[in-house]
Amino acid sequence: MQVKAAVLYEVGKAAPYADSKPLKVEQVELAAPGPGEVLVEVVSAGLCHSDLSVINGSMYPQLPNPMILGHEASGVVREVGSGVTDLKVDDHVVFSFVPMCGHCDNCAVGRPVLCKNGSVANARGTLLSGARRFSTAGGQPISYFTATSAFSQFTVVSQESLVAIDREVPLDKAALLGCALITGVGAVVNTARVAAGESVVIFGLGGVGLSTIMGAKLAGASPIIAVDMLPSKFDLALRLGADHTIDASKNDPVAAIRELTRGGAAYAFDVVGNTNVLAQAFSAIRPGGKAIAVGIPPSDKFVSVHAAAMVLQEKVLQGSFMGSAVPRRDIARLAHLYMTGKLPLEELLSPSITLEEINTGFDRLAQGTAIRQLIRFKE
Ligand SMILES: [Zn+2]
Ligand SMILES: [Zn+2]
Repeated sequence: MQVKAAVLYEVGKAAPYADSKPLKVEQVELAAPGPGEVLVEVVSAGLCHSDLSVINGSMYPQLPNPMILGHEASGVVREVGSGVTDLKVDDHVVFSFVPMCGHCDNCAVGRPVLCKNGSVANARGTLLSGARRFSTAGGQPISYFTATSAFSQFTVVSQESLVAIDREVPLDKAALLGCALITGVGAVVNTARVAAGESVVIFGLGGVGLSTIMGAKLAGASPIIAVDMLPSKFDLALRLGADHTIDASKNDPVAAIRELTRGGAAYAFDVVGNTNVLAQAFSAIRPGGKAIAVGIPPSDKFVSVHAAAMVLQEKVLQGSFMGSAVPRRDIARLAHLYMTGKLPLEELLSPSITLEEINTGFDRLAQGTAIRQLIRFKE
């Protein structure tokens, strides 16, 4: 079938993207779902920093172009291939940006976001089976991004890339469950396992950082300290549960955090994906504390921390990918928290856009003037 999609042909084009147009919105060919695959009509797809990192070339420079980005999305199942057992036509689904094979070593020990087969598929730009289903009008195969490629009216994905959700959950907003919320809330409740009354610092107040604040509030963390270079983000951070804000463009955040927490925070989350910020997070934790890397740094960067403090103060530096989630479990939990008013995810929504406006949308994301913009495919 012919579908309209945003195709990335060249990585590293200069901003503003409204002018350089790294994403071309055009008709592409989409093959029918193969065995174990599902055709999904995308309802909404969020613009995330991970997509932006591919566009600007700081992440995954090795992925073969052309490619269709888009990994934070929701949709409706329209067709299932042979052997699809867990999903049926008309099911409402949220995408998981790691496909979970269910039988590798890491899936077997309950860590599906580290799925070996899923990582291979994501590194190659294919589905779990190794297949590509999109091609250009000229017949050139198009790579997948995170085996989802949701910046398209329709996409074909492995059934292992989808999580079905209750029909009562507003499907357009449910897209956010699959990246911002699962990553941010998961970092607090799964990776860090923050207990009530423990101090938490969050560096970086984009969609994931603000979701981390929501997670910290749900966990009963206190105080919750929000750090950013853009004071324009502080009102929302305070509304979502932050007790204090620190403008890192004016103040040394480490000194300010130590003062607010009388010696250092129990947990500090780097949601920026900047190695200097990660080192600051490590400096800002107390003895026995944990610095948790949530934002994904450029793939050529290394972090330097005070090694003796790591030993003598038993400090921990830990990664958190996709909130250390079990997507089937956690997307259902997040949806329930949202439906019962405990997870105000609407607060993250900037005005939604059309697929044609995608380049301008990425300009806003890069400038920090939008939090989460959803592409809505149907009015
Ligand atoms: Zn994302
Ligand atoms: Zn696996």
